[in-house]
Amino acid sequence: MTASGHRSASPPCRRIAILGATGTIGVNCLDVASHLPDRVKVVGLSGHANIDRLAAQARQFMPEWVALSDPSRMEEARAKMPPGIRLLAGHDSLAKAVAEPGIDMVVCAIVGAAGLESAWAALEAGKDIALANKETLVVGGPLVTGLARRRNARLLPVDSEHSALFQLLQEPGAAERVERLVLTGSGGPFRGRTASQLAGVTIEQALDHPTWKMGPKITIDSATLMNKALELIEARWLFDIGPGRLDVIIHPESVVHSFVEFVDGSVVAQASPPDMRLPIQYALTYPDRVPGPSRRMRWDELRAWHFEQPDRAAFPALDLGFKVAGMGGTAGAALNAANEVAVARFLAGSLPFMAIPRLVQDILEGHEHDGAPDLGTLKRVDRLARQEAEKWRHTTAAMAE
Ligand code: NAD
Ligand code: MG
Repeated sequence: MTASGHRSASPPCRRIAILGATGTIGVNCLDVASHLPDRVKVVGLSGHANIDRLAAQARQFMPEWVALSDPSRMEEARAKMPPGIRLLAGHDSLAKAVAEPGIDMVVCAIVGAAGLESAWAALEAGKDIALANKETLVVGGPLVTGLARRRNARLLPVDSEHSALFQLLQEPGAAERVERLVLTGSGGPFRGRTASQLAGVTIEQALDHPTWKMGPKITIDSATLMNKALELIEARWLFDIGPGRLDVIIHPESVVHSFVEFVDGSVVAQASPPDMRLPIQYALTYPDRVPGPSRRMRWDELRAWHFEQPDRAAFPALDLGFKVAGMGGTAGAALNAANEVAVARFLAGSLPFMAIPRLVQDILEGHEHDGAPDLGTLKRVDRLARQEAEKWRHTTAAMAE
């Protein structure tokens, strides 16, 4: 700032590509972009299947290119896109497009391990990434953070807990003075239920999240607490911290997004209403803070924030997260792939809710662990774990244990 209070240089306008633009995070990201036209220019969009939404987004933002990862529907997409936009098809084209020189930042908002390849390609090209796709770190862990370091690319977290921690650690030297990182979690729609009360829950009940509106996969992960397990693993690699210094506490209001406890015992928290547009915006404008569209605290309505311990018996996924954060290597890839299949099977009606963590545990324990895999090994473990998870059948005896 100058003495008159004006900025001496105009802030950068970042040229961004949004991968997974048609999903919940993608839509929120475009909303932020529409509020910050001086700070963000959308140059690329990708989607998988929702061509109508992708075409509407293309008309509104007029990016340079649009990528459709399902190439079988190119003709339909071509007919619906506005003229003057390059239409790309398939994952290979996405990996090339994110490396183009005209891009400053790639928003990784694809769901599942399918997002790893494009995040990897962006980092390889030295692009900063705004990472919503937590599976990238769960699967790739130190390979991904190592690549970012080597290419001098910033890895900016979008997951609200990790954005909170990242915001809390901005002071120079703060990361070296951390005692413990504590992630908060809403507890999901089944908070307070015992394991036996969870036995017969329906797909509709599991999809009805109390505080966040999200895509179906992460919503089911929130109901099993597998989402918190994935986030523990994500934090383990993002902040390079051992699982013994990570913790989870349930906070049903989803306003406090995480805590940092420092070595002197001081605990600091980041709080804001549950609205993903804030962590998205923080990544897009980092290290600046600017007025944007996110919901504000209603101080006149605030009465109490509640915290409670997670029920590890009813939600065994949580312990799997601690375990995998400690194992490293291929464990994240096995856990994630098994979970993706388990969630898809639950949503298809072919697996009961409580079988999800059971299946994931069996596949994790059955996989051949490699402590220092390369990318090829991770892909192989992912493929094998998916095959095993498709075949997995729960027995009444196993479920009753
Ligand atoms: P979503 O299901 O709403 O959207 C997923 C996006 O990925 C869509 O654009 C879809 O077209 C695309 N996609 C799906 N499969 C694909 C494939 N095989 N190849 C390429 N693209 C594919 O999901 P979401 O809720 O927006 O979540 C996206 C990611 O962000 C997830 O990793 C999730 O864990 C993470 N995240 C989401 C939230 C949230 O509030 N929604 C919060 C934190 C983190
Ligand atoms: Mg989160």
